[in-house]
Amino acid sequence: MSLRPILIIPDPRLRMVAKPVVAVDAAVRALMDDMLETMYDAPGIGLAAPQIGVDSRVIVVDVAKRRDDSARAEPLSLANPEILWASEETSLYEEGCLSIPDYYEEVTRPAAVRVGYLDVDGRRREIEADGLLATCLQHEIDHLNGVLFIDHISRLKRARVIKKFEKAAKHDAPVRKPRASGPAHGAAEDL
Ligand code: ZN
Repeated sequence: MSLRPILIIPDPRLRMVAKPVVAVDAAVRALMDDMLETMYDAPGIGLAAPQIGVDSRVIVVDVAKRRDDSARAEPLSLANPEILWASEETSLYEEGCLSIPDYYEEVTRPAAVRVGYLDVDGRRREIEADGLLATCLQHEIDHLNGVLFIDHISRLKRARVIKKFEKAAKHDAPVRKPRASGPAHGAAEDL
C-alpha cells in the first residue's frame, strides 16, 4: 500500500468523467488499498480515484472511523458505483472535499440512496444508505462524473472559491497540506 498525492482544484483531472472498471482484478484491489490508506491519512471519510489522478470509476468510503481513531474501521470499496434509487426526501450536510481544502458549505441532497456496485471480489452488490453515508456516496459518485460539491452551491459562492484556488495555484504548486486535527468546523467532513 502507498499514499498517493491528492489533487486539488483547479486540476483539470478533477473535471473528467472516469472510465468504468472492466474487471476487479489485482490492480484494482491495489488501487482500492492505496485509496483507503490515502483517505485515512488525509484524514477524510471518502475518496474517489480521480482525486488521485486515476481515470477509473472506483471510490472508497468509511464514515465509521471519522474523528475517532478508536472506532473500528468500516471501509467500503466500490467499483462502478451507480445510484439506482434516490429518495425524494432531502437532507442538508455541511460538506468539505479533500480536493478543496479548508472550504465547507451546506449541500442539499437526497436523504437516502440505493447504490449498485462491484465489491473487492468483483461481486455485484447493492447498498442502501441514509444519513452521512448517503451524502458521502453521492459526493464520491459525483467525483467520477467530474462533479464537485461546489457545483451544488450558489453560482456566486462557487465562483468565489474557484477564483481563490486558481490564484493560489498560480503562486505555488497545488500541494495539499496535511491538517493536524481534521475539519475546523464541528459538523463538516472532508470527502
Ligand atoms: Zn470530494
